[in-house]
Amino acid sequence: MNNWPAQHSSPYVNSLALPLQQYKVVRAIRMAGDLSRTDLARKLGYSRALISGVVKNLIARGILVEGEEAASTGGRRAKNLVFNDSFAYVFGIDIGATSVDLALANFRGEFLLRDARPLDVRDGPEAVLTEIAGIAQAMIDELGIPNDKVLSLGIGVPGPVDFARGVLIMPPIMPGWGEYPIRQKMRGIFPAATVMVDNDVNVMAMGELRGGAGKGVENFIFVKVGTGIGAGIVARGSIYRGSDGCAGDIGHIQADRNGPVCHCGNVGCLEAMASGSAISRLAMEVARDGRSPIMARYLEQGVERLTARHVGMAAHEGDRVAMAIIKESGSLIGSVLAGVVNFFNPSLILIGGGVAHIGTQFLANIRRSVLSRSLPLSTQNLRIDYSSMGDDAGVTGAVALALEHIFIAAE
Ligand SMILES: [Zn+2]
Repeated sequence: MNNWPAQHSSPYVNSLALPLQQYKVVRAIRMAGDLSRTDLARKLGYSRALISGVVKNLIARGILVEGEEAASTGGRRAKNLVFNDSFAYVFGIDIGATSVDLALANFRGEFLLRDARPLDVRDGPEAVLTEIAGIAQAMIDELGIPNDKVLSLGIGVPGPVDFARGVLIMPPIMPGWGEYPIRQKMRGIFPAATVMVDNDVNVMAMGELRGGAGKGVENFIFVKVGTGIGAGIVARGSIYRGSDGCAGDIGHIQADRNGPVCHCGNVGCLEAMASGSAISRLAMEVARDGRSPIMARYLEQGVERLTARHVGMAAHEGDRVAMAIIKESGSLIGSVLAGVVNFFNPSLILIGGGVAHIGTQFLANIRRSVLSRSLPLSTQNLRIDYSSMGDDAGVTGAVALALEHIFIAAE
């Protein structure tokens, strides 16, 4: 049950409808950054004459401009087409459990201003979104951008999202946010904006896809290991969300049928055994029962709750028990990912999130476990690496999410 209005407007009420050919040209340039008319004709299978006409219309609408001259390949020099940077502005908003990271970007996706600050999602959607809207308002005021030039917002949140409706569904760490109409709230401040909401892991995968190690990779998986464990799936160059938006929820795949009970109610979930919170629980156990004198010392020195970071520090000091916790966590994640690899056959797995850099043994054991348990054919072209973007993946992905939903194809 919830008290919010039941009606949720379509995500695309504010999206600008473009004829299909114009839409395809815009999309191709969004993926590539810039393209010549010849590139466009080849990529889209249109004639040069047709491309010239479509491009002319897009330039007349203020969407495209002629860019720098492309490298000459002999004969006439071609000018590449790029987005008119002032056609629209967008916000990428990455909401974490205890922080928010905002970027104001132009139509080309270049960041103009950035703001990051602590913020507690437990304060509830009304207070949190009002504060975020206030920060965003101050950012556009600083650059003199009118509110109706903000054509899209991409928002990442740390909880399960119904992507079509733009609402959170029973988010475990965001009390009061379930079914809250984020779109209506943000459109109250940015009336011309399309508002897209997605879970943080999908948004991070999007960031890697558009601006990081996933650029140009057709099929890959982004795994976030933090307090929980989740994955964003990129299939054929797009985020794959599944029927209900919860594809990639690998944290609740069973890693051990005799394992501990997970907060979801099931037994032996990966998240209950290998996440940041599981590592923290194990660390407290081994510190209290004397198996890890080093971590016991941290407690004596006044640390209230040992976290994954402390386990990393202890391992660095040579604590074998801490090292074993890191290895076991990596192995468990790897064993679940091996199943994912056999099922999905990605060419890249990126590991990110707060626990990713707990120690070199972590990634090494993920790799070892995946390679030993997957079929040889599915791993021959598989690379497993750290996320290349670190803390920037979320906000970069949120900007990309916003940019990709400014337009829709007209019927
Ligand atoms: Zn679970």
